[in-house]
Amino acid sequence: MAYAVRGITKDGAFRIFAADTKDIVEEARKRHRTVPTATAALGRALTAAALLGLDLKTGRVMLQINGGGPLGEILAESDAEGNVRGLVQRPHVHLTPQRGKLLVGQAVGRNGYLSVTRDLGLKEPYQGSVSLVSGEIAEDLSYYLTVSEQIPSAVALGVFVDEDNSVRAAGGFLIQTLPAATEEQITRTEEILRKLPPVTSLLREGLSPEEILERIFGKENIEILEKRPLAYRCRCSRERVERALAALGPEELKSLIRRGETAEITCDFCGEVYHFEIPELEKILENLEVKRRKELEV
Ligand SMILES: [Zn+2]
Repeated sequence: MAYAVRGITKDGAFRIFAADTKDIVEEARKRHRTVPTATAALGRALTAAALLGLDLKTGRVMLQINGGGPLGEILAESDAEGNVRGLVQRPHVHLTPQRGKLLVGQAVGRNGYLSVTRDLGLKEPYQGSVSLVSGEIAEDLSYYLTVSEQIPSAVALGVFVDEDNSVRAAGGFLIQTLPAATEEQITRTEEILRKLPPVTSLLREGLSPEEILERIFGKENIEILEKRPLAYRCRCSRERVERALAALGPEELKSLIRRGETAEITCDFCGEVYHFEIPELEKILENLEVKRRKELEV
């Protein structure tokens, strides 16, 4: 089962987050039929969103990455309940791996930006963005958090795709320096992180999120404050799709109805298909016109 943990180090120096996202990345792969390079890129983005989502008590966080590379745009979001979803514009992009490594940075590209939006249900969502550093996503996110949100952060994200293209392991961690951290604590942790094997190797060894954090900080120095199950779950619904159809406006709806066309709308995030027959389209049109008339009366 996919899950994430959030905690602190007992010395008060760091906030710590880690996640095992294998099941949600595998679910994303099946839904979007991604091939390995796309699977790894989308998987890293989903893991990043899941880690950022751990900070939420309400609302959701969205990650948008566009590096101008062959994969196109990548979107990933998660909410306070641990629901995660995402998409990659071109899921069938695969570049030949080099020395056993999937070329995520090249496929994402580095000629673009990473942006993070936190929608806490307030009037205005909070949004920030940075230019991509490498397109490898983890490095870009740590740059974003450090520069744009001014919280020195280290991020590791990893997805291991098996020979049959399924996801064998996926996950990552996020470490954020607290104001109380001393130079010595920071330097020591940087040193440990430099020597740490890639997170994909740790996950393949079978380490849990807690164990990865223990490996970095020592078992006695970490305190887990929350463990949250994660699931690939979409927010789409028939009502939302109806609203999207209504947003086309009366002219567009009328022309669909005139042409006798039923509407078939596929959710980009989960692949769910919604069918609307002519009478249903007429109903949406009618509601829309009633609403417009009411607005005019006011
Ligand atoms: Zn959906």
